[in-house]
Amino acid sequence: MGRVTDTHAAPTPSSFAEEFLDELHFELGVSRETASPTDLYVALARAVRRHLVEGWFDTLSTQLGGDSKFVAYLSAEYLLGRQLENALLATGLTEVARDALDGLGLSLDELSEQEVEPGLGNGGLGRLAACFIDSLATMDVPAVGYGIRYEYGIFRQTFVDGRQVEQADDWLALGSPWEIPHPEMAVTVGFGGHTEEPAGTGEGTADGAPGPDARQWVPGWTVEAVPYNYLVPGYGTRNVNTLRLWSARATKAFNLEIFNSGDYEAAVRGQTYAENISKVLYPEDSTPQGKELRLQQQYFFVAASLADTIARALGDGDLHALPDRVVFQLNDTHPVIAIPEMMRLLVDVHGLGWDEAWDLTRRSFNYTCHTLLPEALEIWSVDLLGRLLPRHLEIIYRINEEFLASLRDSGGNELQVRRMSIIQEQPERAVRMAYLATVGSTKVNGVAALHSQLLRDAVLHDFSDLWPEKFTNVTNGITPRRFVRLANPGLSALLDETVGTGWVKDLDQLRGLEAHAEDPEFRRGFRDVKAANKQRLVDLLATRDGLHLPTDALYDVMVKRLHEYKRQMLKVLHVVTLYDQVRSGALDPADVTPRVVVFGAKAAPGYRMAKDIIALVNAVAATIDADPALAGRLQIAFPANYNVTLAEKLIPAADLSEQISLAGKEASGTGNMKFALNGALTIGTLDGANVEIRDLVGDDNFFLFGMTEPEAEALGQAGYDPGSFYEQDPALKSAIDLIASGAFSHGDPTAFESIVSDLLWKDRFMVLADYRAYLDAQSRVEAAYADPDAWTRSAILNVARSGFFSSDRSIRDYLDRIWHAPAVPARSNGLRD
Ligand SMILES: *Cc1c(COP(=O)(O)O)cnc(C)c1O
Repeated sequence: MGRVTDTHAAPTPSSFAEEFLDELHFELGVSRETASPTDLYVALARAVRRHLVEGWFDTLSTQLGGDSKFVAYLSAEYLLGRQLENALLATGLTEVARDALDGLGLSLDELSEQEVEPGLGNGGLGRLAACFIDSLATMDVPAVGYGIRYEYGIFRQTFVDGRQVEQADDWLALGSPWEIPHPEMAVTVGFGGHTEEPAGTGEGTADGAPGPDARQWVPGWTVEAVPYNYLVPGYGTRNVNTLRLWSARATKAFNLEIFNSGDYEAAVRGQTYAENISKVLYPEDSTPQGKELRLQQQYFFVAASLADTIARALGDGDLHALPDRVVFQLNDTHPVIAIPEMMRLLVDVHGLGWDEAWDLTRRSFNYTCHTLLPEALEIWSVDLLGRLLPRHLEIIYRINEEFLASLRDSGGNELQVRRMSIIQEQPERAVRMAYLATVGSTKVNGVAALHSQLLRDAVLHDFSDLWPEKFTNVTNGITPRRFVRLANPGLSALLDETVGTGWVKDLDQLRGLEAHAEDPEFRRGFRDVKAANKQRLVDLLATRDGLHLPTDALYDVMVKRLHEYKRQMLKVLHVVTLYDQVRSGALDPADVTPRVVVFGAKAAPGYRMAKDIIALVNAVAATIDADPALAGRLQIAFPANYNVTLAEKLIPAADLSEQISLAGKEASGTGNMKFALNGALTIGTLDGANVEIRDLVGDDNFFLFGMTEPEAEALGQAGYDPGSFYEQDPALKSAIDLIASGAFSHGDPTAFESIVSDLLWKDRFMVLADYRAYLDAQSRVEAAYADPDAWTRSAILNVARSGFFSSDRSIRDYLDRIWHAPAVPARSNGLRD
């Protein structure tokens, strides 16, 4: 940045307007008259960004100057959501910017709508990473988020004839005003090739001799990783942290060589190949495909991040200080290749002995597991891994050999040894990344109390027997800045009036609301906020999706990735049952609680069943819409392209939060927390963080239903037979028969055949077994909703008692249990002095 903005004095609307026009005219090169809405947005974003830079410099100089420890959060995904409003909130410039724009005849809200959110994640896991970097910055913890700057993020979802169609997410098409590229700081990353005896050139050893355990990796090809910095402002602090995302670029040497050989086409092809690495986010959530490019992405960002981290943490300092200077957190298995990469750096490049390197590595890494589904546990065939990263495979083999030898030494039997091997033998030889992560980390955590327990008891049971102290829990959280303060301005104003403004940084202060839950005036204010949020949503969905929805209805919302374990199908069966009963005359439409059922869900493009379920939801929506008997009583709204921006509008309008996964399948969920904090009541199973939500808000303020995890497990063991549930429950039978009859597919009985036969014959996630309990719970919901005062009281108590679910609390738990990295508030020593 060539120019330094003077930010001594607090900006005024007129000084800010000047900065804005300065950006527009001199950086974008457009006049006020010719500027497009996007130009105006970009100029605004850049004007706001100016006010983050000084704090960012101060943060960097404070953190780098001292000998503080920093957190390197490694995550393949960051589902950031829009940046502008959050940056305005952090800088306290919202009203200044609004006034400045007003003065120019422009609207802040309209310009904000121009922003395309960076969708660099699939769902909960990526959103968690985004919440965590927000909390780390707010809490003044030295931290860098490392990830990938995907050129195309999560696809944009559209519906054609009710079926999902994916479109490329070209989020960079109009430029990204929030990123600062540093091509001059590119890091070279190798792939392929072979290993050989090192030839006396160990870089890190004093005499240049190779270390005792070193091998030489000769990569077959290299790419450059170019860092792009994103500023991560803390709220109510000077601190601005860094999110560093890597973009792939062909190396110059690579190009030159081929250009010189005269093969222009090959050079261009090579360039394209290299740059493919950061081209697109894999759209699978929970069920990764073992694709070569995916492993390339993982190693690419991990190798660049480790090189960066070591330089940052140590400079020219002592490698032995590594665990005191940096702590790596592995967000799921995606970055686990970092463990052998660290060993390679220490042993091959810096010449340390194996044992010492292993000790330093293990002390520096920690692993967060995010799943319970076996198909979500990443494995890489040794074939692929050996081809792409031959030295890393050697290192993994040695880690495994020594680990298994230690097991045998301590009396482990052969069956146990094979069970725990990092290398699986059947059906193909492959590396179990979760096991590698567990062996190579100090701490392993699950993401909710139940999940961590199930990790200990089932998924990683052998390891927890071996190392009980290694396992811990950190229940997920969400940032109150984005998901309450920004998403729900009405509620925020009410909270400010009632408990003061401190809740934004200290969410436990919401407890102060409990005293007001009985106050009729407060309840009225609370209800008014919910009503206004519904109106805001209805207006949005009218223009965004052409939907015509009532405001005076129970808003029953199920938004999350489409996955069978989450059981959107159970929600569909509830709606189909209501429709069926009205149609057959068993239910008087006047007795149906007016209800808008909102779905929002993307399906992985290759996930057939999930896409069929989307089509079914849209088909049921259309059929119900066309039936006058249900007008004003029951309606499905399924806006396409659920993302963070839409979540921020949907969740504050919700009355009922659907968290209905089969117990033992959802690791935590974070959507559930967003809803509770925005005053929706949960209908849910005892799964993931639902358990903790219910414990905190009270069982009177939560609609519990369904099997417990041990019950579901036992039913599976006994041989689950969905057909028997179908036979024994006439309402269920009739609902499924209705789908099978073609009632939602213009009489075509084959349209949803795959869904029907799966439900009747397989039903892996036991939808039918929980159907009756779910319908009963929905009847309890209707009865409760009929008493607005009691409902509002419960909703208030949900807000008052959910402060625990702030991601600030999650970060505090990570700090106390795992990271032990003290806060370092940024000192002002930047541009002004
Ligand atoms: C919070 C969030 C999720 C996670 O939702 P779950 O219900 O926990 O699966 C997914 N997508 C978006 C856009 C979110 O904001």
